[in-house]
Amino acid sequence: MTTQRKAVALISGGLDSMLAAKIILNQGIHVEGVNIFTGFCVAGHTHAIRARDRNKSMRNHALWVADQLGIKLHIIDVIEEYKQVLLNPKHGYGANLNPCLDCKGFMVRKAREWMDQHRFDFIITGEVVGQRPKSQLKHKLPIIARESEAFDRLLRPLSAQVLEPTLPERAGWVDREKLGRITGRSRKAQMAMADRFGFSGYSQPAGGCCFLTDSNYSAKLRDLWRMRGERRYEFDDIMLLKVGRHLRPRPNFKLIVARDAGENRFLHGFSKRFTHLYTDSHPGPLALIDGHASRDELELAARITARFGQGRAASQVRVKVTQRDGHQQVLSVTPLSQDQIPKEWYV
Ligand code: SF4
Repeated sequence: MTTQRKAVALISGGLDSMLAAKIILNQGIHVEGVNIFTGFCVAGHTHAIRARDRNKSMRNHALWVADQLGIKLHIIDVIEEYKQVLLNPKHGYGANLNPCLDCKGFMVRKAREWMDQHRFDFIITGEVVGQRPKSQLKHKLPIIARESEAFDRLLRPLSAQVLEPTLPERAGWVDREKLGRITGRSRKAQMAMADRFGFSGYSQPAGGCCFLTDSNYSAKLRDLWRMRGERRYEFDDIMLLKVGRHLRPRPNFKLIVARDAGENRFLHGFSKRFTHLYTDSHPGPLALIDGHASRDELELAARITARFGQGRAASQVRVKVTQRDGHQQVLSVTPLSQDQIPKEWYV
């Protein structure tokens, strides 16, 4: 009797990990997926918040991929543990605050721990040699295998034929000849393979939904750390960085101004924790103050908030300010004009 071999697939929700899992499924291996939830890949949440994104799919990409493949998916929450990866990456950052090499090693380590606990045989990822400058260069891939302690139980089905044979190949659990030899940044080979497998509707871009690769998002995260005087964050912080306009008119406070009704509702959920403002005399946005604003600065915050409401052309707008202790006041202010809001205020 032959042993049914089992592989755990790291499922990001992108096309590459979907193809990698499919290649191995087609070889008769039992595959289950793990999705590592760092808090920075939350496309489903943000689509759900913004009114203008209502027409876009609100699906969780990893769950969708697992459903297409017909495999179980286990979501592993690593929000707390991941802080050490992001705050102190041994191998540094990519173009933005993406610590890709450390991150990959960490994720494969989590998959390896899961494999050990569940008595699976090997791990598969959708990595492609040469696709990403920081983490997927050929000479960098062994670092991931070593630091995760997955060693030769880590198989990259899309590029396997250009890499050293791993244990699943040497032991004959999988047929190396049926694995891929894709390299480089082009997506053509993956798209052709997706067509062959009959996959459509997969998420684009290939890089997935990690906000750490986004320059605007990274700038906001850096600003948050600067303002706090230390590099730390909580889950709520990283969610708030993705919502609203962020303006820092003074070093001691930042305004987060909702851009539409969906964001208004979302920010309202945080309003008890922040001094917040909304226009009382005209329809307008809710704005949160992150930091401490003096009385004069509250007036400035009110003028900025009024600028983004329907009273922006009015000579006076009433803005209600609610402090964290519940104390309320109404300020009558003249909205700032567009010219009075310098570009440098936008974080
Ligand atoms: S893009 Fe984001 S999730 Fe992917 S390896 Fe880099 S830091 Fe990690």
